[in-house]
Amino acid sequence: MKNKWAIFLSLPVFLLHSFQKEKIIPEKDFVIRQLAPGVWAVIHHEQGGRAICNAGIVDLGNKTLVFDAFINQNAAAELKKKAEQLTGRPVSFVINSHFHDDHIRGNQSFIPGASIISTEWTKNKIQETEPGEQEWAKKNTATQLKKSMEQLASAPENEKNEASVWVNYYKAITQSLPDLKMTLPDITFSNSFRIYGSKRTVQLVEYKNCHTGSDIVMILPEEGIVFMGDLLFTERHPWLGDGNPETWKSTLNKLYADTTLKLFVPGHGRVCQKDQLQVLMLYIESLQQMSLSAIQKNVPDSVFIRSQMPEAYKDWSFKRFFMPNLSSVYENTRKINQ
Ligand SMILES: [Zn+2]
Repeated sequence: MKNKWAIFLSLPVFLLHSFQKEKIIPEKDFVIRQLAPGVWAVIHHEQGGRAICNAGIVDLGNKTLVFDAFINQNAAAELKKKAEQLTGRPVSFVINSHFHDDHIRGNQSFIPGASIISTEWTKNKIQETEPGEQEWAKKNTATQLKKSMEQLASAPENEKNEASVWVNYYKAITQSLPDLKMTLPDITFSNSFRIYGSKRTVQLVEYKNCHTGSDIVMILPEEGIVFMGDLLFTERHPWLGDGNPETWKSTLNKLYADTTLKLFVPGHGRVCQKDQLQVLMLYIESLQQMSLSAIQKNVPDSVFIRSQMPEAYKDWSFKRFFMPNLSSVYENTRKINQ
């Protein structure tokens, strides 16, 4: 009898365990993947959906935290609803990892109710750039969307995925614009910040001059889980145009060397392990080597930016970032070697 019960009980426990370990919930704008009890990665769809970037939901025990707010208020409202359902309470904190529109424009969906947290640098940068960015979007998004749709229609089969990424991006912005209000962070910090929940502590660490002038990485020390914001992209070109490749590379190296960190949620792309930090370091490194070689041969920037994409990155999406990335790394390498 005892054995019978053991067999009967062990099966559902095993199934429950494996289900929880890889619990995946598909939603309209994103997919939710449980990383640990009370910790969820919210991953944008590869095609379609209005999330555009990744986010996170963390149950602190007595409070609920959301990491990054998407580009679109409706997608953000869906994120808020899911966070409330999963944790059983309202969202208290929203983290803005950095100032880019795809990570902050959903802020207004969490107000009133939540505090928005960013670094002091990021809050100032949003305040300085977002009114102009929104003005630009109001004037130009319709044209950009039309252009992207034409590109999608005429793209060869192997470029259709890439083209549809941009259609999707401009669609998410178009839908957001009529009701969009700039919503600034109301709690800021520099260097580092901790939130002590009744169940777990999260550590927010500021890294300066990497992807932008200031980026937050959120570490869950007990689980070794890291929400990287845009300090990590997987299987897609990162955006190097607003930061510093050298500092970014050394920050990745520092995080790579930390043996307590196991699981990484990038700003764009799939949840991954440490090897993806190395892949991104190698990407930066290879653009630096290409730049150095061009500078030594007196190849001007205008010629250099037309360099062929290395074979290893030809299947990555966000291909349109490659040329500006070359330009940005060339400029940085030139300054270092002056
Ligand atoms: Zn970004």
